[in-house]
Amino acid sequence: MKPSIDPRTALHTDLNEQLMARARQVIPGGVNSPVRAFRAVGGTPRFVQRAQGAYFWDANGQRYIDYIGSWGPMILGHGHPAVLEAVQKAAADGFSFGAPTEREIELAEEILALYPSMEMLRLVSSGTEAGMSAIRLARGATGRSKIIKFEGCYHGHADALLVKAGSGLATFGHPTSAGVPPEVVQHTLVLEYNHLAQLEQAFAQHGAEVACVILEPIAGNMNFVRASVEFARRARELCTQHGALLIYDEVMTGCRVALGGAQSVYAQQIPGFAPDITVLGKVIGGGMPLAAFGGQRAVMEQLAPLGPVYQAGTLSGNPVATACGLATLREIKKPGFFDALSAQTRRLVDGLSAAAQQHGVPFAADCQGGMFGFFLLPELPRNYGEVMKTDGNRFNTLFHGLLNQGVYIAPALYEAGFVSGAHSDADIDATIAAAADIFKSLSIK
Ligand code: PLP
Repeated sequence: MKPSIDPRTALHTDLNEQLMARARQVIPGGVNSPVRAFRAVGGTPRFVQRAQGAYFWDANGQRYIDYIGSWGPMILGHGHPAVLEAVQKAAADGFSFGAPTEREIELAEEILALYPSMEMLRLVSSGTEAGMSAIRLARGATGRSKIIKFEGCYHGHADALLVKAGSGLATFGHPTSAGVPPEVVQHTLVLEYNHLAQLEQAFAQHGAEVACVILEPIAGNMNFVRASVEFARRARELCTQHGALLIYDEVMTGCRVALGGAQSVYAQQIPGFAPDITVLGKVIGGGMPLAAFGGQRAVMEQLAPLGPVYQAGTLSGNPVATACGLATLREIKKPGFFDALSAQTRRLVDGLSAAAQQHGVPFAADCQGGMFGFFLLPELPRNYGEVMKTDGNRFNTLFHGLLNQGVYIAPALYEAGFVSGAHSDADIDATIAAAADIFKSLSIK
């Protein structure tokens, strides 16, 4: 596929490089979120000038097919007319009031209708804030301190969650960031994802002290790894048995793998399945800073002003963000939207798999709804350790090969990908053709 380069900027001063040099002077690493810096893959980050539908254009005027979609939120593609209109209208009525608005109720009602596990929710401004608040709520509601998380799952950058596994099974974790004192993570137990025996043992040892288990049901921060049905079932049973709350972090998967999130997918296989608390973000804000956490009434009423668990936010339920989220949800709820999105994502994954196979490249891929992941590995990994067996150099060859052909995937091998309602058959075909071209050079035949 030929990248479309604006002839006015094709003179070969790389404007992305110039912007990056300027950014580095005033913003640490030149970026406002680390993965944007391309550290894992090398090269210069693309500075986005504008985006429309399935594409964005960088500072050089080069067009890319966008499989990141702002790391998940842009499920309708960029600049969807109904969303744009709703945002413009809301902005004209006022940016922020710090007082309640009817639209917050509407958005809460829309989300709750899609997530029967929740009776109430609270709106916040980022997934980090939602995850952090959900954990405080679980601790407050249970009166316990310990939390269980899984290696490779990301729940935002709250201090207690920036932690890696301790040296032995069921020992408490170590901070993964400077600035997080060991005492702050002393109650966080980090286990291997999909490892039933470890989870059993952790509950056998600490069950009465565990406030919550938090997990990404389909982990998108180690590319794309599903919790096995057995693991999902047992985590639910153990939490119930020991009086701990099960938190599903669906910031990425919510309204993305299915309208009702990953929990609706597991509920089809596990009768009566429901998490106690759900954390949402990304798609429910349609690209604006908006996230939420929710659960059953009795748990949610522990929150201030009704209960003793404090939580607040100046911009929470922001009127422009709620307008964006509402318009997005109303579009993706339309009959046929999710079926078409799922089929398009499946087409991409199958096409990439076939191309890799044709060229003898070990390749395993999976998808659900509009979220996908692929690995330069012979089979799908089940946990972080297996994901990280991917050869980073081979991934980088693929990443830069695609980028040079105008296809933008996540600049790290442990990130998921996203298809939007705006990706056409031609976009998918062009992506598969571009990948096939690179697979030739990665062939180990
Ligand atoms: N939880 C999950 C599963 C995520 O993927 C992310 C971000 O990617 C977060 C939480 C944090 O969300 P935010 O970046 O909006 O703070």
